[in-house]
Amino acid sequence: MRLTKYFIPTLREIPAEAEVVSHKAMLRAGMIKKLASGIYDYLPLGLKAIRKAENIIRKNMDSSGAIEILMPSVQPAEMWEESGRWSYYGKELLRIKDRHDRNFCFGPTHEEVTTDIVRSFITSYKQLPINLYQIQTKFRDEVRPRFGLMRGREFIMKDAYSFDVDDAGANVSYGKMRDAYRRIFDDCGLRYTMVEADSGAIGGSYSHEFMVLADTGEDSVISSDRGGYAANLEKAVCADNWEEWNEVVLPAEEKETPNTRTVEELAAFLGVPVIKILKAMIVNVDGRFYCFLVRGDHELNLAKVKNFFGAPSAELASYDDIAEQTGGAPAGFIGPAGLKIEIYADYAVRAMKNVVMGANIKDLHIINANLGRDFEVKAFGDYRNAIEGDTCPADGGKYVLTRGIEVGHIFKLGTKYSESMNAVYLDREGKRNPMIMGCYGIGVTRVVAASIEQNHDEKGIIWPVQLAPFEVVIVSLNPNEQAVADLSETIYKELSGLGLDVMYDDRDERAGVKFTDAELVGYPVRVAIGKKSLSEGNVEVTVRRTGETVAVKKEDCISTVM
Ligand code: ATP
Ligand code: MG
Ligand code: MG
Ligand code: MG
Repeated sequence: MRLTKYFIPTLREIPAEAEVVSHKAMLRAGMIKKLASGIYDYLPLGLKAIRKAENIIRKNMDSSGAIEILMPSVQPAEMWEESGRWSYYGKELLRIKDRHDRNFCFGPTHEEVTTDIVRSFITSYKQLPINLYQIQTKFRDEVRPRFGLMRGREFIMKDAYSFDVDDAGANVSYGKMRDAYRRIFDDCGLRYTMVEADSGAIGGSYSHEFMVLADTGEDSVISSDRGGYAANLEKAVCADNWEEWNEVVLPAEEKETPNTRTVEELAAFLGVPVIKILKAMIVNVDGRFYCFLVRGDHELNLAKVKNFFGAPSAELASYDDIAEQTGGAPAGFIGPAGLKIEIYADYAVRAMKNVVMGANIKDLHIINANLGRDFEVKAFGDYRNAIEGDTCPADGGKYVLTRGIEVGHIFKLGTKYSESMNAVYLDREGKRNPMIMGCYGIGVTRVVAASIEQNHDEKGIIWPVQLAPFEVVIVSLNPNEQAVADLSETIYKELSGLGLDVMYDDRDERAGVKFTDAELVGYPVRVAIGKKSLSEGNVEVTVRRTGETVAVKKEDCISTVM
């Protein structure tokens, strides 16, 4: 590709809302353009990187035996009513009406539609197992779209759905996806860990997330330094200093409110022992939000809570409720026994933004981080210190906390959808059974952004070759010199002929401008061709990642680049 014939609208002024590296870099390098909050145009460079990720994903999905389809992005409400998710899903679901006033949604995920395909055509055990996948645009009306492609509202996802005759089969399908995901993220050149995630009602370790390790990640990962254990602390953020935070957040007059209760009072009232770790349950008590600390393996008795406050209603706050109150991801908090924590509405709501939580109610709380089993909190104060360095019971290693970006998620669904939507097959004996399902997602656009979060410097992007929109850039330093132009042209054609994605910077610009742009865009290899070095028969080859430049004989240029 010749740069003069291409479209890379680089930006000099980056809007202040771009907080993280990938967002800034993608805007600066002309890869994306914001159309509306969380909705982006994919410009040529951005699209090329996305396509590279898609191709890696497609190749590995295909080789795992999954079969590609493409489902509509607009889905009828009936499907969602059948599964029960029309009322459950909340505000993340973008609901739309057609001209006949019929309800539709823009798909945030496709369990219902895939289940509908399978139940329509698959009736016998002989047709199973099957795994259908697609690479498709999704829409989720995120409370806080941010970080560019990392958390968009419209984004591209690879989603796969497996259907099996029995549990053993479903586990095999799950294992195949887990292996395929490992190959995919290896092939993308990403540093990642697979962590145990919430497996909801199913139990066991049948849900894993793939976390790209990067400081800007919104998730926390707790792992053992011996590699025997890793789980996510979903959306949890550590309070740097509990005491200080406590003072700041809780205004004095609010401490006087009659609704204030200590953990001990609440625990006694609720009939749960106070142990070291408690899960925080956010309850909407007639419009006021309360945070309850409950022992990890106990459930809260909402009827008791209702009576306790003498309120007309008390229900678990929904994900949306909490997100709306906090303007962010829901969280609760954990605290050791013996500490007096005032618990009531504003406190809880504000606390939720800042503090690590320790519960395991799906979509409300932290997942798979149970005290005793997973870690112990020693003291209030710096939570990180309290976990880090502790011994992991799984393998005797030391716990470390890191940050991660969730790029993939695999989940054993069981019969949730097949039962509600009647996806059944006839077994050998002619008996009807619900299919056992699994679902598997990868955020394609997020993968590209995550790669930048992990691979960059102050000059710009450092692509792993696998995801680079162009693998090589040829920078012609004196395009008006015939010999330089001729050689640039020859090398460009030869490298392109070898199947590489080559960008030829043939602009009539100063060398400095071209170099700066090349570094910003992040081409893994740069070949600079200029009058001076050419007079000695040389061209200069630079590796973006190391910054290392070598002068090579022009005849050796191709072999050096390859
Ligand atoms: P998150 O916890 O980040 O909100 P999720 O758990 O809601 O993600 P899943 O339902 O597991 O997401 O979807 C599968 C994958 O889709 C995720 O692992 C992630 O890579 C990607 N994804 C989810 N939401 C977004 C988004 N708003 N923007 C970009 N990618 C996303
Ligand atoms: Mg989400
Ligand atoms: Mg998640
Ligand atoms: Mg997920």
